[in-house]
This record gives sequence, structure tokens and C-alpha cells, in this order.
Amino acid sequence: MNQSDEHTNRQWRLRSRPVGMVRTSDFECVEEPLPALGDNQVLVRNLYLAFEPAMRGWLNDVKSYVPPVGIGEVMRASSVGQVIESRHPSYAVGDLVSGMLGWQEYALADGEPGPMGRLATVPDGIAPEVMLSALGGTGLTAYFGMTDIGEVREGDTVLVSGAAGATGSVAAQIARLRGAERVVGIAGGPEKCQWLTEQAGLDAAIDYKSENLARRLRDELPHGASLFFDNVGGPILDEALLNMAQGGRVVLCGGISGYNEEELPPGPRNYMQIVIRRLTVRGFILIDHFKDAGRALGDLSGWLSEGQLAVATDVQEGFENTPQTLLRLFEGKNLGKQLLKLADPPIPR
Ligand code: NAP
Repeated sequence: MNQSDEHTNRQWRLRSRPVGMVRTSDFECVEEPLPALGDNQVLVRNLYLAFEPAMRGWLNDVKSYVPPVGIGEVMRASSVGQVIESRHPSYAVGDLVSGMLGWQEYALADGEPGPMGRLATVPDGIAPEVMLSALGGTGLTAYFGMTDIGEVREGDTVLVSGAAGATGSVAAQIARLRGAERVVGIAGGPEKCQWLTEQAGLDAAIDYKSENLARRLRDELPHGASLFFDNVGGPILDEALLNMAQGGRVVLCGGISGYNEEELPPGPRNYMQIVIRRLTVRGFILIDHFKDAGRALGDLSGWLSEGQLAVATDVQEGFENTPQTLLRLFEGKNLGKQLLKLADPPIPR
């Protein structure tokens, strides 16, 4: 693939709807002339793309909380970029901005709110990696899921699946910061588990890929979890249901284990545990909580500036690697937020 010049824009567009596991060949790279700027618009050079498992769902032609990405459309994605031209009073050339700018090197934006938020200016002193992780969609998801939905409180015993991922790692730390008595994470691989106990301050981490999950859960949660924050669903949710305390809360944040399944497996086998243990199970979607983003960002920024919140990011490089970088999420290769760096800011700051 050729490098683009300042007159062309490279884009990754959806070529075909994936069946089962998403493949790089489901996308195609096209080049087109740089778009012309209209009134009240800005032209943004994308610097970092962010990747989320939900992107797999956006490729299915089904009704969901946002419309599917259409065949031939630029793949939807959040990013941080730099304004290189502006005809909008709220954005100046050189500003760093964050929004749903898609898998492309340059994007036009108008600052109007879309279904997934509006173009935000990155505050001075905030690195793009942090803006897209702890202070981005996954940090906010962790915050609202743990505090508003899970209502984490002092004395809780908290279990988090997908704990070394972008959402799980922040959610688990929020539980600790809000006074949970014990926080246990589940993650794939020893490196992730080591990060959870040594950097993120969890009390224990279980490597579900190489350890006996059922036994470890029983050992680590002898009285059961009062709160389970689930990012993965499937067999891990089933095991967790067997290790809940009576009256416990289950926050359903996501179910990545099923996102690439052609045929969905039957639902949780242990669902009767919800009855027997009198559990409360609540799902949520971040976009319903944007109105409270100020409160969340205030708390998250405070913890970050006090050095109380460890942030992990996995930064790949090169626009040509965009589809491969999405696949890393489903292969469990990322520790923390999966990002792809496209460029340094073209305008010195
Ligand atoms: P992430 O956790 O940073 O990355 C995905 C991780 O999922 C991988 O690193 C891998 O970690 C794990 N995984 C992949 N396949 C798996 C499988 N078959 N079984 C168990 N674990 C598997 O991604 P994220 O962006 O933070 O998203 C985490 C979850 O939150 C996803 O389910 C996502 O859809 C959900 N989410 C929900 C909302 C909402 O509004 N409700 C918003 C954002 C995200 P391991 O190595 O540990 O397996």
C-alpha cells in the first residue's frame, strides 16, 4: 500500500459483512482526494485510532444501539487527531480533538453531536493515549458500570472479567478506589495477571487460560462476590454465577466471548443461580450516561493526577495495520487499551 501525500486521504472501508470471526479481508483500503472544507467544518488529521470489541457488532446488519456500518462506508471508530484547517469558531488550527472520526487519515467534522458524542477538544496536558483510554469511552464505561450500575461500595468483594482490558482494568481499580474490601480479576495470561496485581493493585488475578478457573474462584472468593462486572459472558459468566454471594449484583458490560460466533451458544447454563442467590443483573450502554460525563471525568482525572489509577495502553503503528489491530482484541493480544498510532501532530504544539 502506498503512503498517502498531503492531497490524498486513505480510508479503510467495509468490503463485506463478516461471518464468524472478523477478517482483515472484510475491509478494503481506498484512496481518495482530501475532502474540501465547508462552513462550520474542520479538517482533522487522525493521529491515534482506538479499537473496541463493539466494532464487531457494528458490522452486523442488525438493529442495535447504533446503526450498522454500511458496505462501502468508512469503518466507524473513535480517534484523536489534530485540526489542520478550520472554518468552525470553536476549533482552532493545531487543536487536538477527539471524536468518531473513523478509519481514515483525514476526516471532516462539524462539531455537532452524533449518536456517539460530539467532537471534543483534548485538554492541554492530556496525552492522546489517555484521552482515548481512561478519559475516553472505555474509562467512562468502567466508571458508570462500576459506580452507577454496580453501585460499588465499601466492603464489597468485587470480581471483574476481562480485567486487563481497557474497560476491565479501569473498572477493577475504581472498585479498589471506592473502598471495595477485595478485588479479583480474571484475565488471559501471566503477563496480564502480573500487571493486575503489581500495577493495578488488585488483590488477586486469575489466568483463565492456564489455571483451573472454578477452583481459583472458589479459593479467592470463599464468601462469594457481592459484585461481578462482566466484560466477556460465556463460560466465565457461568463460573462467576456459581461464586456470587447471596443478594449480589451482576453488571453486564459486554460479552466478547460471543461476538464472533456464527451461531450463538445457548445462554448461561447456571442462570438458576440468579434465582437461588437472589442476584440483581443489570446491563447498560455508555451512551445513555453521556449527560453525567462531567462527574465521571472529574473523578477519573482526579485519580489520574493523584497517581491512583494505572493506565495500560497497547500502541501499534501504521495505517496499513488498521484491520489487524482490530483482530488483536479478539486474540487477547492487548494489555489495556488497544490503539494504533498513525502520525505525530503535523502542526507543532
Ligand atoms: P478490551 O477488554 O481492552 O479487549 C478485549 C479483551 O477481551 C481481550 O484483550 C481479551 O482479554 C478478552 N477476550 C477476547 N476474547 C475473549 C473470549 N473468547 N473470552 C474471554 N475473554 C476474551 O476491550 P474493551 O474495549 O475494554 O471492551 C471490554 C468489554 O466491554 C467488551 O465486551 C465490550 O463490548 C464492552 N463494552 C461495553 C460498553 C457498554 O456501553 N456497555 C462500552 C465499551 C465496552 P484476555 O486476554 O483476558 O482474554
